[in-house]
Amino acid sequence: LYQQKAADESRINETTVMAETDPMTKLLNRRGLERRVAAVWPMCERQNTPVAIIMMDIDYFKKYNDAFGHPKGDECLKKVTTEIAHCVRRQTDCAARVGGEEFLVFLYGLGQQEALNWAKHLKDRVEGLLIPHANNNFVPYVTVSMGIAAKNVEKGDAFWELQNEADKQLYAAKEYGR
Ligand code: GH3
Ligand code: MG
Ligand code: MG
Repeated sequence: LYQQKAADESRINETTVMAETDPMTKLLNRRGLERRVAAVWPMCERQNTPVAIIMMDIDYFKKYNDAFGHPKGDECLKKVTTEIAHCVRRQTDCAARVGGEEFLVFLYGLGQQEALNWAKHLKDRVEGLLIPHANNNFVPYVTVSMGIAAKNVEKGDAFWELQNEADKQLYAAKEYGR
């Protein structure tokens, strides 16, 4: 009976991981992100933890697909997300695919300046892949835009407010030329 129970539990865990993982990129999906945030946010509120959210979006990705085709687009997405996964190392951090070519990174314990440095590093790594892009502005390679929001979390703060702010900053980055 005990063995049966252990096997059942392990199957449930496996299924949960599958349900919360984006199959293409292996990052968390929205559901996975929600659960992680629900687990860590109350602790951030209690301890006034600095938290930074980065929203990242591939520039002119529709044009990339148009030029090279959807399968190449998928390959590009996988390469980009490998760099995200490489940079998100700490147990307390996480990264999720929140849109087709849009990603969220949750950084625990990082202030604005540290988050900015972290984001620049990731941006350098992604753009350092030198993935050829047919119709990008400025450079002939795949680039990304990012929005960052950081704050010391206080009691009553909502995660979605910080995410909204990062989204606004991403939109501004797009507006100012990507
Ligand atoms: P912007 O610089 O403003 O972000 O322009 P964009 O073209 O990247 O943004 P837009 O939202 O217009 O298009 C996003 C594109 O991403 C369109 C969609 O076909 C593509 N996309 C979304 N998910 C996937 C996917 O899983 N695979 C591939 N190949 N393409 C995808
Ligand atoms: Mg885009
Ligand atoms: Mg997008």
